[in-house]
Amino acid sequence: MQPEPAAEAADTSMSPEEFRRLGHRVVDWIADYRARVAAMPVQTQTRPGDVLSALPAAAPEHPEGFDAVLRDLDTVLLPALSHWQHPRFFAYFPSNGDLASVLGDFLSTGLGALGLSWQTAPALTELEQRATEWLAQLCGLSPAWRGVLQDTASTCSFLAMVCARERASGHGAAHAGMQHGGAPLVVYTSCEAHSSIEKAALLAGFGREHVRKVAVDAARAMDAAALAAAMRADAAAGLRPCAVVATTGTTATTAMDPITACAEAADAHGAWLHVDAAMAGSAMLLPECRPLWHGVERADSIVVNPHKWLGAAFDCSVFWVRDDELLVRALSTNPSYLRTEADGRVRNYRDWSIALGRRFRALKLWSLLRTHGAERLRTRLRRDLANARWLAAQVEATPPWRLLAPTPLQTVVLRHEPPGLAGDELDRHTLAWLARVHATGAAWLTPTQLDGRWAVRASIGALATERADVAALWRLLQDAAH
Ligand SMILES: *Cc1c(COP(=O)(O)O)cnc(C)c1O
Repeated sequence: MQPEPAAEAADTSMSPEEFRRLGHRVVDWIADYRARVAAMPVQTQTRPGDVLSALPAAAPEHPEGFDAVLRDLDTVLLPALSHWQHPRFFAYFPSNGDLASVLGDFLSTGLGALGLSWQTAPALTELEQRATEWLAQLCGLSPAWRGVLQDTASTCSFLAMVCARERASGHGAAHAGMQHGGAPLVVYTSCEAHSSIEKAALLAGFGREHVRKVAVDAARAMDAAALAAAMRADAAAGLRPCAVVATTGTTATTAMDPITACAEAADAHGAWLHVDAAMAGSAMLLPECRPLWHGVERADSIVVNPHKWLGAAFDCSVFWVRDDELLVRALSTNPSYLRTEADGRVRNYRDWSIALGRRFRALKLWSLLRTHGAERLRTRLRRDLANARWLAAQVEATPPWRLLAPTPLQTVVLRHEPPGLAGDELDRHTLAWLARVHATGAAWLTPTQLDGRWAVRASIGALATERADVAALWRLLQDAAH
């Protein structure tokens, strides 16, 4: 018999020493990027396929070294990016990655620990528990809430829909699921709700026919009387009202649904109330903003995205539930190979999420909160609110500019309405001046349709955005529209 040849040492992974050398260069690269991003055009001019055609069709067979990666980062990738951390970024919503949080994210990746159960990385679970408690306190929430970090608000709202379904169906997933043939369950949200709500309801199996888009009032908040009426009508028709999703801070205009009234409507039918405060939740660090979600303690679940305005590096979304036992019952599978002796005494976050594997996501929230402290975060949020109020006041004082929605937070919704322009002509004018703004590369905003007509949103709150940037934006808008 031939003896087995000795295995050759085959760990060709990057050594810690090489990592140290290259890692410093990467940190320098990121620091330089943040320092010079203000001088770049906010939006890239790249065309579809430009990046693809610059990338080889197959992976290299032999080492190219990390230098090659950094070279392509500069020459191929960076020119094809729009800059979310730019001080003149006024599009969508602020997606702030504070560098303190970026460092926490590095540590998570560098540790490479996986939370499959408490046992596999105890600190990962307990820091997540503590960090979500901290954030609940900072938002003025009671100790009744139990938090877990997810990737995005879309995931959190999906989980809320699953919880609602399981509660209403007496944990039907453990039996016939959606195939039981009983009366259909119905979900209610406003016609201004985020698209992730409809997606969540569809993926949770409710069916588009059973998602009601309730009308909004003049402030674009859900009309609670219309909600109650829709729920009563469905119940009278033999359907089962199952969940209400109220939005604190809609995407188009940061409208605030009346949560107390939504809770009353939901309670009348035993329906789940989920509050989508993905964007506006950060504002709840400010006591003066908390009346905007008055009644939130009556909800069953809440989502807030620290990865938006607050400054946690994407992705970091908090899902709070009151009844964590229900969530765990809906999501747990508990196979034998994952059971541990500690199970009865700890949180196993795999039963609070879709994925089994869990990274040390809490590090980036924790490092953000510790590095800055709550007061400094509040000061920045207040800066942005003041900047938005300033821009809204300029718009109101300068006809034919018009403010199209209240500005409870940091998003200003506006339109330039020259006399005699209406309908499609006004739409063409709006989109044309916005295109001229974007052609300068000096700011990036997003249009939105309100009552079927185009308007423009200035979402203020990038970390680097100061009053001078907002004043420059206002001059730019006026130049582009005239
Ligand atoms: C941004 C946003 C979402 C979606 O957030 P993701 O984390 O990207 O899924 C949902 N709802 C509201 C109100 C939002 O502002």
